[in-house]
Amino acid sequence: MKIKFWGATEEVTGSMTFVESHGEIGMVDCGLSQGKSDSDEKNFASLPYSPKSIKEVVITHAHLDHSGYLPRLVKKGFHGSIICTQTTADLIKIILDDSASINRGDDEALYDAEDVKATLKLLRPEKWNNEFIFLGMKAKLIPAGHILGASSLLIEAEKRIVFSGDLGRADDYLIPEPVSCPPSDIVIMESTYGGKIRAGNMYDDILLFLRRVVKEKKVGIIASFAMARGQMLITLIEQAFLAHPELKLPLYFDSPMMKKVNEVYKKHNVITKHPVEMLESLKNAEALDFAGQWDTLKKKSGPLLIISSSGMVSGGRIFRHLHNWEHDPNAIIFLPGYQGENTPGRILKDGGHTITDSEGKSITWAGEVQSSEAFSSHADQNELLNWVKEAHAKNIVLIHGEQKAKESLKKKLAEICESSIHIPTRGLVIDI
Ligand SMILES: [Zn+2]
Repeated sequence: MKIKFWGATEEVTGSMTFVESHGEIGMVDCGLSQGKSDSDEKNFASLPYSPKSIKEVVITHAHLDHSGYLPRLVKKGFHGSIICTQTTADLIKIILDDSASINRGDDEALYDAEDVKATLKLLRPEKWNNEFIFLGMKAKLIPAGHILGASSLLIEAEKRIVFSGDLGRADDYLIPEPVSCPPSDIVIMESTYGGKIRAGNMYDDILLFLRRVVKEKKVGIIASFAMARGQMLITLIEQAFLAHPELKLPLYFDSPMMKKVNEVYKKHNVITKHPVEMLESLKNAEALDFAGQWDTLKKKSGPLLIISSSGMVSGGRIFRHLHNWEHDPNAIIFLPGYQGENTPGRILKDGGHTITDSEGKSITWAGEVQSSEAFSSHADQNELLNWVKEAHAKNIVLIHGEQKAKESLKKKLAEICESSIHIPTRGLVIDI
């Protein structure tokens, strides 16, 4: 058996690893490269194997950087099975439909709605912990936390190999913590927060924000990802309203994708940590009806809450709200979680006031900014170490992380286990 490392070797996006066994080729994750100057180049480049020759793909979870290349693979001739959990399959539909509408190159689209339709027909859901055959080998999906339906992959051949996928945190309000890495010979693991220990508490930071919005009658705008972050914010805010009725205020969310993802979270609520609370919260949250409510809403002053995407203010409907209240010193934007380099969210977080919307129009934000380091759907350094330490793996391979994060995690791993730790480059093949 051979493993060829390809995507997410030198960065955190574009997850894609090839597996060769019994003369067949498969893939673990099939994601788009995002947010870097060479991302387009990578997404349009040829793969090291012909898509026609690839037999099966396992998708660990629905995030675009793990699933977003699938329609391109199908467009180029792939017609095998795509194995993932049912929840991931439901979320992939939303993610890929959206991606088809925005993924365009200079000359040709990366893929279109027809390619997405053909891709969805190939999805083959598998339950967590159910054995299935992947390239002639026994395999299983194991809960990985992170977002709804996310999995690690265990392959049991002559050697036991685990692909972590993205790993969640222990104290996520909705998503149960990842199942620890089973005993294995080789672990291929993510290292996004391999160099970081998270600070703060999500609920406390939300309460602080709500108190300010209510006390000072502010217009509060929360930047959120449509998937996972959105559902958690809505649930945490509704719980805060229940515990502190004096903080109850109108809450709108404005993101068509969030609305669709909410439905998937409701459908699979039993696999969350707080199914009843989440279900009630998502039912209570009101989707902003732009045709009907926007004219009235845009003239309003606080207290008022709007959750809108995107999470780093780098696109989506949030710009409409920022434009509308840009000169209002009584408005406040809340930025929960990591804000990527050069994103408008990062500029605001670092004290800048002028950002540019997706159409190139300038916004000069006169209001306040509150950010929080407590929000993340990824395991931090301690949680990554805890996840892998009982695996007693001979070899650990670090992917899906910036170089600094990988180096830092490598150092810590060397302190707690006997494993050989490797950091592969794009194209490296290991023979097992
Ligand atoms: Zn992810």
